[in-house]
Parts: sequence; C-alpha cells; structure tokens
Amino acid sequence: MPYLVRENLFIGNIGDAAEVLQNGSSEITHVLSMLSSASISIFSEWRSGLTIPTKEIKKVYVGASGSEDDSVDLSSSALQPGKILYSLEHAGKDLKLVRMAVPMRDMESENLLDHLDVCLNFIDRSRKEGSVLVHCFAGVSRSAAIITAYLMRTEHLSHEDALESLRKSCESVCPNDGFLDQLKMFEEMGFKVDRASPLYKRFRLTVLGECYNRGERIDSSKFGVDPGLPVEVSSEVEAPSNAGSISRTAYRCKKCRRVVALQDNVVDHIPGEGETSFEWNKRKSGNPFYKSEESECSSIFLEPLQWMTAVEEGALEGKLSCAHCEARLGYFNWSGIQCSCGSWITPAFQIHKSRVDISTV
Ligand SMILES: [Zn+2]
Ligand SMILES: [Zn+2]
Repeated sequence: MPYLVRENLFIGNIGDAAEVLQNGSSEITHVLSMLSSASISIFSEWRSGLTIPTKEIKKVYVGASGSEDDSVDLSSSALQPGKILYSLEHAGKDLKLVRMAVPMRDMESENLLDHLDVCLNFIDRSRKEGSVLVHCFAGVSRSAAIITAYLMRTEHLSHEDALESLRKSCESVCPNDGFLDQLKMFEEMGFKVDRASPLYKRFRLTVLGECYNRGERIDSSKFGVDPGLPVEVSSEVEAPSNAGSISRTAYRCKKCRRVVALQDNVVDHIPGEGETSFEWNKRKSGNPFYKSEESECSSIFLEPLQWMTAVEEGALEGKLSCAHCEARLGYFNWSGIQCSCGSWITPAFQIHKSRVDISTV
C-alpha cells in the first residue's frame, strides 16, 4: 500500500505502482517512476506476465535542443548529452494514468540534483490535477530523496527536517548517502539547483571525474566556453551574459595576455580543506581562526574549459598550456592535485597564479 505523505502525494515501491497501473486507483491519477530504466518493460522484468499498456506522450533527451522541458535549462548541467531525461506517457488500465519515468539508479554517485527540477515540477503539476504516486523499486531511497527535496522546496525545510517529516508517513525511508549529500547542497543553494554556484560547479566536476574513472569518453562539449574567444553577437535575442558595463575578473596569460579564465570559471576551495581533511574540518566547523596565513593558495582551480585540448586526449594528467602562446600555465590531473594550502582538488585543472595576471574585462 502506498503511504500518504501530504494531500495528493503518495510514496510507494514497485509493487504499489504495479497495482495502480494494472488495476487503476480511485485516488491516484499520476505516477512518477524512479527506476533504473524509463521503459515500462521494467515491470514485466520484475514480474513476468505483467504487461502494462502505455501510449507515449513524449520522450525528452538531455541536450536535444527544443525538446527539453520548457521550464528547465540543462545546458550547464552535469548530465551526459543524449541520455534520456524522462519519458512521459499515458499508462495503465484504459490509459487513464499519466506516468513520468525518470531513469535513475540507487547509487551514491547517481546524479540526483539535475533531475530535481523535472521531478518536482511534475509532482507540483500532478497534485493540482489529481494525486501522484512517487515510487522507486523499494520505496526507500530514490523516491524518498525526491519527496524529501519536494518537501524542502515547498515547505522550506532543511533536508533533515524534511526527511524527518517524511518518516512520520513512512518509517522505512532512507535515501543513500550520495543523495543525502546532494539534498544538503540543494538546501545550501536555496532549494533550487543553482548551476552558477560554486557548490554546483564542484559537484559538476565530481560527476565529470566519475565519468572519467568509469572510462567514458570525455566530451569537450561539456567543458566551459573558452572565455578567450571573441563573444558571438549573432543573436539579437540572446545577449551575451557579459554584456553591459559589469566588470568581471579575468585571468590572463602573463606572457601574451590572452584571457585564460573568468572568475565564473574558478572552482573555489576553502584553503586547507580538502577531500582528506574534509571530515575532520566538519567536526571542527565554525572555527573562524582556522584559516592560517601560511595557507595562501598559489594556484587557482578551474572547471575544464574548451581551450584545454590536452584534456580531451584522455590522459590521466598533463600540462595546461596557453592556447595562444603555448606558455605553460599549469597542470590537470583527474586523480587530483594538492594546492599549496593543503587542499586536495579532485579532479584538478590547476593554473599557477604566478603565470597569470588578474584584470577586469
Ligand atoms: Zn588552496
Ligand atoms: Zn599566452
């Protein structure tokens, strides 16, 4: 039996969803499926002989222009282009239900954040039109993470409070640790996925690092736009983001003055805090005197940018050279580089501060 979380909002497992899809429901009108595949055939794989009629409304792929959800801009997301973002269909008995299927695995490394907008918007719409069942396989991790995010956004609750509140409806919920980290980021970004925030950039870099570790091809289309190239002004509708009089910090090659990076491309780190010392620091959190003066960073770390052609070749590490004069600017290493302050940045696209000048553009 699905559990009622809020008015018109239920959580359940694959059995609950199968029951609703097969026999219909007096209450539920919409189903949000969070399973490893978006295809309805996953139900017949789960229980042979179970066939559920469906009629596709639309299928949306990441990066396919014009087909993305109108309300969601995923151009700077960490999702792999070409992946199914979701499929929307009429499903079940007499095709009366609306099902949105979002392919997602229950793994700590799975990208929950970039799926939140489409899922939460679907829940919002569904609750206005009827009642929605959010389900995954066990009804414990994926569906719970989505509903926790939903409660956070609609009721402005911290991730702990939202999860606690959800537990009152359904005791067994327990999103995996990776999802919990991402829910915490969602909270810190103000209950939205702010792709311009340093937190999100760090996350995007981690996701890219995981792609590299899995041996996936690193596609430079996911790299940041080269800030050293002239800005295209072909489109009148879409003004370049750096138009106007706002001056922005730029890092230029010391030798030839080519722009290497803008402040937006920098992935900030807290001096002295890194992958290894992170847990320790968290326990000592709130100490304003922790930052010692010796810990000044001699490098900046960037998101991968399209001028870093050496990165595309697939090596684990290598040099980063200026795209104009070929002066050496720094290094990249997918397994991380330690900053002079002690922090480990993984993966790292590092520029020595001594090789660049800071100016405004
Ligand atoms: Zn540092
Ligand atoms: Zn140069």
